Amino acid sequence: MVKAEGVHKSFGTAHILKGIDLEVAPREVFCLIGPSGSGKSTFLRCINHLEKVNAGRLSVDGELVGYREHNGKLYELRDKEVAARRRDIGMVFQRFNLFPHMTAVENIMEAPIQVKGESRAAARERATTLLDRVGLADKAANYPSQLSGGQQQRVAIARALAMEPKLMLFDEPTSALDPELVGDVLDVMKDLAADGMTMIVVTHEMGFAREVGDSLVFMDDGVVVESGHPREVLGNPQHERTKSFLSKVL
Ligand code: ATP
Ligand code: MG
Repeated sequence: MVKAEGVHKSFGTAHILKGIDLEVAPREVFCLIGPSGSGKSTFLRCINHLEKVNAGRLSVDGELVGYREHNGKLYELRDKEVAARRRDIGMVFQRFNLFPHMTAVENIMEAPIQVKGESRAAARERATTLLDRVGLADKAANYPSQLSGGQQQRVAIARALAMEPKLMLFDEPTSALDPELVGDVLDVMKDLAADGMTMIVVTHEMGFAREVGDSLVFMDDGVVVESGHPREVLGNPQHERTKSFLSKVL
């Protein structure tokens, strides 16, 4: 579903991603861990067309991110083509970024109506089903300010799902939450994983990675240091850098 081969990214003279190689299979829950500043968010942003890679190949569902390949040549995608590809990718951030002037159900209805041209009735029906799925059927009419952080994050997940993405990217979805609210959000993500969604999850929740993850990558300073099954990497890390990081977070 996602393949990175020698992916590099710089901001000016700051070399952030220094040759990332990894592959995410369809239906896989792929966890990404690493110290602050190692490039995890940058990598997710590259997958979601929010940043352009400087070198290497990055593809989603067999298509190069940002480019069309024709007769061995690369052509930059036009904005419209980028927008079309981005529809297939859902992203959930640390901060929930809901539209503050819209209720929960309206937040979820917005993209299907604006981007897909869905009718209000169809969008509302889908949004209602999704709210039920994330355990918030009774909060449809609440504004974000009337929801807890965990509830807002579950609305944000439902909003991403409303576009029926092929791939979901989660960037530390629970790290802004009070500890007692984390479980409900992780439960929604577990449910999504059990449903077969392909997910890349940047997280500090090692319990989630161990229990739900199919693969885990430890990234440091813009490179993949170590990867494998979460239980292997977390239980028996091979590299000093991985050991040192895990000793601080476990
Ligand atoms: P954290 O765990 O703190 O979220 P991270 O692994 O997600 O860290 P990134 O956000 O990817 O790290 O940042 C990696 C490096 O890239 C940081 O040094 C950051 O300052 C730099 N960086 C990220 N975005 C930009 C940008 N738009 N312009 C310049 N530098 C940037
Ligand atoms: Mg980050």
